[in-house]
Amino acid sequence: MALPYTLIIDPLAADDDAEVDGTFRAVPADAPALRVGELSTQRGDGIFETIAVVDGHVQESEAHLARLVRSAEICELPVPNLRQWRAAISFALEQVPAEGELAMKLVLSRGVEHGPAPTAWLSVNPAADSTAARTQGIRVVTLDRGYDHGVAERAPWLLLGAKTLSYAVNMAALREARRRGADDTIFVTSDGFVMEGPTSSVIARIDGVFVTPRPSGSILAGTTQASLFEYIRVHDYPVAERDMTIDELRSAEAIWLVSSVRLAAPVVELDGVPLAIDAEPTDAFTRYLLSPRN
Ligand code: PLP
Repeated sequence: MALPYTLIIDPLAADDDAEVDGTFRAVPADAPALRVGELSTQRGDGIFETIAVVDGHVQESEAHLARLVRSAEICELPVPNLRQWRAAISFALEQVPAEGELAMKLVLSRGVEHGPAPTAWLSVNPAADSTAARTQGIRVVTLDRGYDHGVAERAPWLLLGAKTLSYAVNMAALREARRRGADDTIFVTSDGFVMEGPTSSVIARIDGVFVTPRPSGSILAGTTQASLFEYIRVHDYPVAERDMTIDELRSAEAIWLVSSVRLAAPVVELDGVPLAIDAEPTDAFTRYLLSPRN
């Protein structure tokens, strides 16, 4: 089956006990698939997950499904039927190439205005080639996110801890980074704490400890970061989830932006200051992240 591959899922046809097979249908790549009234396209009102598929293996699908459920709770969407999503993932996996790196996207939208709700679909595309980012690294600038450190508790309606479809701001930040001569960005709070990238989590090695910003509700809990911290712990290196100031980030021995499909991209320049790639952990991270993970 040629890529892209899309399955439209009917969440209304499956409750917890009902048979889930047959509650999704494949759509040819050039066929219409969504209604114009979709609130996902009109308002970005929905949630999603992007999962890596490496040589036919779906990486950490359960961690992604758990985050889909968390995002649904935060956004007050119907609870995803995980039996149905698992069946859809397995079905799609049988149709797509068994080799190479692919990106599988799961979307749960609030649906069509005044219409049946919610809408859900799964699509699979070839992953962008990330070899250069993984081996040669990326230049990064920090950008003010415009919120202070306590924003998530004070304003939960900003939905900062959910993986919503509203990525226009994240994409604008990437364009700003490119205007400034960089490849990517790290958001910082207006009071000087490190948050995350627009599509990635931050890991920095500070005084020998692998540190990531505490999952505070104002950033997304990264599945790749969590998986890497397990790996690092098993190898007896110290890890910490804690607040990290921008000054600490600037003093880090090494920094990585990590995410499901690009994996671990070492930072080679932060705000114009060169940073050396620490080759040994970087290679180990890539090897681990490309190995089959459940
Ligand atoms: N933070 C944001 C805002 C993201 O969009 C992503 C992934 O797209 C991440 C962090 C990293 O999450 P994961 O490692 O689960 O891909």
